[in-house]
Amino acid sequence: MKESVVELALVREANKHGVMCLKFVSPSCAGVPDRILLATGKVGFVELKRPGGKPTALQLRFASKLNALGIFYALADTPEKAKESLHNFLLT
Ligand SMILES: [Mg+2]
Repeated sequence: MKESVVELALVREANKHGVMCLKFVSPSCAGVPDRILLATGKVGFVELKRPGGKPTALQLRFASKLNALGIFYALADTPEKAKESLHNFLLT
């Protein structure tokens, strides 16, 4: 299974719940998560991987920075985990 399949599950679940789910690219900053989630008064980030895929050291470092800031971050490597991530974001 490709990462794009996991990503599509996240996008579809976000659309279902009225959450904006945008691709996130920061040209001068490697390791940023793949997707940014935006809902009323909330922001979150999701890193997507193919099943069993592991985040890089840079991605882990960025995740730690987000956690330190109290900003939602999730790592999803299956469509089910992608949907769960969206639901957890909605609970924040
Ligand atoms: Mg990725």
